[in-house]
Amino acid sequence: MVRQEPSFRESVDLMFNRAAAIMDLPPGLEEKIRVCNATYTVRFGVRLRGQIQTFTGYRSVHSEHMEPVKGGIRYALAVNQDEVEALAALMTYKCALVDAPFGGSKGGLCIDPRQYEEHELELITRRFAYELAKRDLINPSQNVPAPDMGTGEREMAWIADQYARMNTTDINARACVTGKPLNAGGIAGRVEATGRGVQYALREFFRDPRDVAKAGLSGGLDGKQVIVQGLGNVGYHAAKFLSQEDGVRITGIIEHDGALYDDNGLDVEAVHHWIARHGGVTGYPDATHIAEGAAVLEHDCDILIPAALEAVINLSNAHRIKAPLIIEAANGPVTAGADEILRDKGVVIIPDMYANAGGVTVSYFEWVKNLSHIRFGRMQRRQEESRHQLVVEQLESLSDALGKTWSPSPDFKQRYLRGADELELVRSGLDDTMRNAYQAMREVWHDRADVTDLRTAAYLVSIGKVAASYRAKGL
Ligand code: GLU
Repeated sequence: MVRQEPSFRESVDLMFNRAAAIMDLPPGLEEKIRVCNATYTVRFGVRLRGQIQTFTGYRSVHSEHMEPVKGGIRYALAVNQDEVEALAALMTYKCALVDAPFGGSKGGLCIDPRQYEEHELELITRRFAYELAKRDLINPSQNVPAPDMGTGEREMAWIADQYARMNTTDINARACVTGKPLNAGGIAGRVEATGRGVQYALREFFRDPRDVAKAGLSGGLDGKQVIVQGLGNVGYHAAKFLSQEDGVRITGIIEHDGALYDDNGLDVEAVHHWIARHGGVTGYPDATHIAEGAAVLEHDCDILIPAALEAVINLSNAHRIKAPLIIEAANGPVTAGADEILRDKGVVIIPDMYANAGGVTVSYFEWVKNLSHIRFGRMQRRQEESRHQLVVEQLESLSDALGKTWSPSPDFKQRYLRGADELELVRSGLDDTMRNAYQAMREVWHDRADVTDLRTAAYLVSIGKVAASYRAKGL
């Protein structure tokens, strides 16, 4: 009999159930935590190119054990109710795991953003934001969206502005959405955050030789061969930081129009530029192009980083995956069935709800920054000023030594103080968060005989936290 692949939401539920089965939850609470509280569908028309076009969007609220609920808004043609519900559930577990005090939510709009001009996208986004905000599905204290696939800083700025126009007396209006540009209430390091988080997660994994050995690997990150699927925001930053700072070799990059492969390592920056200019990897001159991109998921490597879509590792290819270690930078890249096959093969999977939690972690910092109405690091101004002075002196003597003259540009100090302190704080807060969350999973993974994989460990930790807050509320 051919095994059927469950839907994305069913797949998440199956993984949840595996963990819940070995927990001691009061009757009824397990069901309450698993189910999605509500999913709103909005249909709205926008007049474009002289004609009204109707769009369908969703906002799903999985769990309100803490409010606001949090989660991105995705723009893609394939967006549907099952998908946003699965993604909203993952947000609940993700936030609990990294102690971001939010419930889980997710939104999506069925649209191919590449088919529209910027001003059209603005009209569509503002109208979508209006529909959600008037139902409190965008609100600083109830529901706070963020970027996801197909959206970024630009869309978040439109959403924030739309909300502010509708709520002119709300002093906390900026906190209605995260992932905003720096000059519109954003925070330094949010764009890179999810990729950074993947890097910090891998660093923590490689700090414990027992974990490394469980994956059949040895040593540190240095020299490891890595294949990345998707060079979008998450995949690009993960690949860039890992190759620039940890000595890994990115041997494969898989994109929508095929894959690039080079045993000696690809130049991530160059590939990224190429994609930005040409829309894909086709024609990139310095690597082998493989037309059947997905086949590269099955190539030899030490670490596989799926950083694109859900369900890319499924019943049809799981048994051919050679990577001993997979880190799920995307949400749900491995189906429940594939997860079982990979577990049986001894592949170690660092699960999505942990691996890509860097985004929501820094979103939390941004939300706090907006609510506190104070620039991050402002209190350390004096310390930063003397550090700035030191940097200026070092640069001056360095340029002296090189026989050159260097003097700070007029806005150097301002830029230094604005950028450096906040970015440093954000990165160290993110690193701390990723370490602590991993250590909580690691403890369960090592200590409990009935937990043989990191995903179950992650679910145990996060379901435990959600259950504890329900209990505290008296439910
Ligand atoms: N869309 C991202 C995620 O899936 C970020 C969510 C957020 O920052 O709220 O985790």
